[in-house]
Amino acid sequence: MTKYTPMMQQYLRIKAEVPDAFLFFRLGDFYEMFFEDALKASKELEITLTARGGGTEDKIPMCGVPYHSAASYIEKLVERGFKVALCEQTEDPKHAKGVVRREIVQMITPGTAVNALNERENHFLGAAVQLSGDRYSVAYLDLSTGESKAAVVGSEDLMLQEITMIKAKEIILPSSVNEALIKKFQDRGMSAFSKVDTETLSFDKGLLSELEDDEVKKGISLLLHYTADTQKRALEHLQKTEQYEVNAYLQIDPNSKRNLELTENTRSGSKKGSLVWLLDETVTAMGSRQLKHWVERPLINKHSINERLNLVESLKNHFFERESLRELLQNVYDLERLAGRVAFGSVNPRDLVQLKKSLQQVPFIKEKLNEIPDEELRSRADSMDACSDIAELLDNSIDDQAPMIIKDGNFIKDGYSEELDQYKDASRNGKKWIAELEQKEKSITGIKSLKIGYNRIFGYYIEVTKSNLSGLNDERYERRQTLSNAERFITPELKEKETLILEAEEKSVELENQIFQVIRERVKKEIPRIQRLAKEISEVDVLQAFAYVSEKRHYVKPVFSENQTLNIEEGRHPVIEKVMNLNEYVPNSCTMDESRSMLLITGPNMSGKSTYMRQVALISVMAQMGCFVPADRAELPVFDRIFTRIGAADDLVSGQSTFMVEMLEAKHALEHATENSLILFDEIGRGTSTYDGMSLAQAIIEYVHDSINAKTLFSTHYHELVDLSSKLERMKNIHVAAAEQDGRVIFLHKVKEGPADKSYGIHVAELADLPASLISRANELLLEFEAEKSSQTKELSEEGQMTLFDLPVKNNQAENKVIKEIQKMNVLEMTPMEAMNELYKLQKKAGKLVAKS
Ligand code: ADP
Ligand code: MG
Repeated sequence: MTKYTPMMQQYLRIKAEVPDAFLFFRLGDFYEMFFEDALKASKELEITLTARGGGTEDKIPMCGVPYHSAASYIEKLVERGFKVALCEQTEDPKHAKGVVRREIVQMITPGTAVNALNERENHFLGAAVQLSGDRYSVAYLDLSTGESKAAVVGSEDLMLQEITMIKAKEIILPSSVNEALIKKFQDRGMSAFSKVDTETLSFDKGLLSELEDDEVKKGISLLLHYTADTQKRALEHLQKTEQYEVNAYLQIDPNSKRNLELTENTRSGSKKGSLVWLLDETVTAMGSRQLKHWVERPLINKHSINERLNLVESLKNHFFERESLRELLQNVYDLERLAGRVAFGSVNPRDLVQLKKSLQQVPFIKEKLNEIPDEELRSRADSMDACSDIAELLDNSIDDQAPMIIKDGNFIKDGYSEELDQYKDASRNGKKWIAELEQKEKSITGIKSLKIGYNRIFGYYIEVTKSNLSGLNDERYERRQTLSNAERFITPELKEKETLILEAEEKSVELENQIFQVIRERVKKEIPRIQRLAKEISEVDVLQAFAYVSEKRHYVKPVFSENQTLNIEEGRHPVIEKVMNLNEYVPNSCTMDESRSMLLITGPNMSGKSTYMRQVALISVMAQMGCFVPADRAELPVFDRIFTRIGAADDLVSGQSTFMVEMLEAKHALEHATENSLILFDEIGRGTSTYDGMSLAQAIIEYVHDSINAKTLFSTHYHELVDLSSKLERMKNIHVAAAEQDGRVIFLHKVKEGPADKSYGIHVAELADLPASLISRANELLLEFEAEKSSQTKELSEEGQMTLFDLPVKNNQAENKVIKEIQKMNVLEMTPMEAMNELYKLQKKAGKLVAKS
């Protein structure tokens, strides 16, 4: 260490505090990086790598960025999951003895970066702390808006589910956390982690005052400590942490959420094509974030759901009031993030103008809401605090055309400060005086082209072109600067005025800065009020968005049944309906109740089975969010959980679409579903060989029917399963109809009672224009197979259900069966693994034959 220069020693000492971050070390007008940091940063940021001496023989690798453009480089690094430590000079170099003092003033990490955020998304830091057993304390916090939530959940799965749902940008964990858990987060796409020593937590405990339970406090404590530690400043906008119960919301696990495309579509992962995309007719950014929150957490309390639905109904029925409300909301900026910037000290004059304009809308918003005859809406309006004192303060002080930059001043209104007005007068009068002086000098000298100008280096001057110089023969004129075709002079008179003007300008800029700080501090004190208002406005915004969409798309208000009945008349899939042309979507009804809790859906490929199932789930989710639903009428149960499982072969997106994943997820549903849940099993069992898959499908149906009795929609292409309805009393068959016309299949997309009668696969192939000879060969084969199957079914019915293979039958019959199976195998389409499996099975059967004979 001692071999380095004192400054490099300082660098190394500070760098040791932040081994996992890039240290941006302030040196004059640059942030410099050294050693490893420099090597890595020069690659990541594509900046030139240089080197400097530092007391050692070898030069030290170095690279740097100018401080005024550092923000974009920092952003880049943080976006890629790195952390940056900003190290500033914390004393004036002029007064420094030896090396200037430097300190880390802020850490910028993926979860704490507050610049350049997507305004319609929250930006969460997450935390998880294991409690006794498998229980976890989880928490999340958005530093840009100041909101935070905390809960205790009963399993690791639920913890992962919460952290995944909020899309945490960075996860804070106790330093004792095991690597296996980090791996699980990584498997779910999260990459930035920070560890905190739980023994040394320090933060503002007042923020936890709403929390009673010590276990709930554990997760959020990490976050509060981490933000205090990285931001190194008081964060007045942090709101009291709110505790929530996972059980208070309709639970939809992350896979089911993805399958239902609630917040993003499964193909590209973007918002387009998702339920949020359809519903997000919010006007404000805060409303948009709130809407996403509601979509992710539908309610299960009937009273709260109905309260939202009633508000939506009122807003829906009052078109003109709603339209004016939308217009007023246009002028409401992101109050939450503005409040955050005030707290951070990064708020600029233009931000404050936006804050003022937003607040000024509130009285009109209240008035509009009051025009709608709805008690609840009126009481919401009445409780809104328009923060008129803040609006007034800002209106009196800050110019509407205020710039974003503070340091040049020129944004405080005349009349706000007497002292400031005097300085401004002095500088304005001075300028007027100079204009008059120009006239005067022109007439004294008779030089028409004489002019008075100003530049930063020489100040005010009188400029005369070289050809007119003879006109200046007074010694008042003192030469200042010579140009190629002109000379610049100053006079004692001008010099005196110059001093006055410049002093006044300097003073007024300084004073404006001071005034701005004072205003900012005053607004800072009112942050909680602004935040409360922001919440109220964002809820109104979401409610009006629901009303807007509900009216535009002819949705109806759902009612909730007392006896778990589901009765949807002419329901539609909201998103598919939107992307289709008008009236192209075929509405379908769905009835499920005590005597009919399970529906087995058959029908050809592409007939609309998956769409129908999702439609039922989406209608339920929308209703429980408090939104109207796409149907002519809807009576629904309040579901506690929704599970959707899509057969591996249909699950194109996950990539890891192995049969194992499918089974694990089926298990998840079977383990957690109650009789108040909704299960969608779409072509489950498809990812394995026919008999295997069919047996599993049947066993799953029986299990759900007998042991869970959840409302279940089960689609299958195993036509054989339709016979189950005779055995399972609450299971009914339905099918999506297709019609044949001139030997071709037409999809009617109409759901009807009873099983589908025929497979249309070959007709679909025909539609796809496969060669005619191939199609006729396929028809031929179909006839053969059907003949075989009918003789087989006879065999089966003799032996009863569930003895599809393992048949303890007379030898010649069993022998025939094995031979038939071999004949039926489509060897060319099998993977080597499948072939091995089949061979193994056949061998087992052959073994039995030998044993019996
Ligand atoms: P399946 O699951 O039976 O193979 P899908 O549900 O995937 O069929 O539907 C296939 C396509 O049919 C969808 O992409 C959609 O375009 C169309 N479709 C499905 N249901 C309807 C409907 N009710 N009205 C109009 N088109 C529909
Ligand atoms: Mg399907």
